[in-house]
Amino acid sequence: MSDLPKGKLALYWAASCGGCEIAVLAINEKILDVAALFDIVFWPVAIDAKVHDVEKMPDKSIDVCLFNGGIRTSEQEYMAKLLRQKSKVLVAFGSCASEGCIPGLANATSRRKIFDTAYHNTPSTENPDRVEPQTQTAMAEGTLHLPLFYETLRTLDQTVPVDYYLPGCPPEAERIWDAITAIVESNLPPPGSVIGAETTVCDECKRTRNEKKIKKFYRTWQVIPDEDSCLLEQGLLCCGIATRAGCGSLCPQVNSPCIGCYGPNKGVQDFGARMMAALSSMIDSNDPEEIDQIIRDGIPDPVGSFYRFSLAAGHLRRAKVGSRG
Ligand code: SF4
Repeated sequence: MSDLPKGKLALYWAASCGGCEIAVLAINEKILDVAALFDIVFWPVAIDAKVHDVEKMPDKSIDVCLFNGGIRTSEQEYMAKLLRQKSKVLVAFGSCASEGCIPGLANATSRRKIFDTAYHNTPSTENPDRVEPQTQTAMAEGTLHLPLFYETLRTLDQTVPVDYYLPGCPPEAERIWDAITAIVESNLPPPGSVIGAETTVCDECKRTRNEKKIKKFYRTWQVIPDEDSCLLEQGLLCCGIATRAGCGSLCPQVNSPCIGCYGPNKGVQDFGARMMAALSSMIDSNDPEEIDQIIRDGIPDPVGSFYRFSLAAGHLRRAKVGSRG
């Protein structure tokens, strides 16, 4: 690969925790290969390039942009549009950019409630003047500006066209390297594809499986599961049946259920609906009241359980509160 001409690479961090930025470094010494293959022209967490440097770049002069995070603010929307304009290939990098992830769970509530919690109601908050962030604040030295915080978090592809998706919270280092290799060698799948496996975590999982009949769901702290048999058959809400492979079934390997961070497998549009459909055929009862009780007792937070990573990208997208600002 080192004989190829050097490309230009940009990385950006929008509404996310930053774990995807760390995941890039998890490719270890291969980061030196990345540096040999690409000039990194924009990466706010690591290099001192400014937005106006990107604004001055010719359109499509960046070969690849790995964009992590959803779009929650006007600044993130501006950067998504700017980097789309400047990049030949835009990759939704990680779960937040691809499907909203944990920041997208805030779509279950409203901006007002988020601000009430963050700036007024937490036990550690002291804010007697009820100050909240403003998009413009006049000071003696001039006007201060902050981005507008939107009512709804959007995924990257709900904001600009995306060429490829690299799922995961965060993407596994091996999959990042696979993607970089595919980009450098022009060996990419058709535009719009998810780079990675098409099967499910269950297909990667080595646990023994029998007939799935569930009479009771358990929270992870309620049982110490058997280490060899399927966690779902033991009543733990394992999302491997609906989750795209690519992680090597890491969580089931350490006796913990898959929580779905690689997003839906190929062909599934709504992760939560897929999970609910799968579970409905496994609950061992024909009595609607008993089924209701089994779900209420064992799955007290259906949105957090079934849409932890994908609320913003699923069919529901958000709760019906407020309007987009
Ligand atoms: Fe493995 Fe979970 Fe699938 Fe069972 S449901 S086979 S534990 S990934």
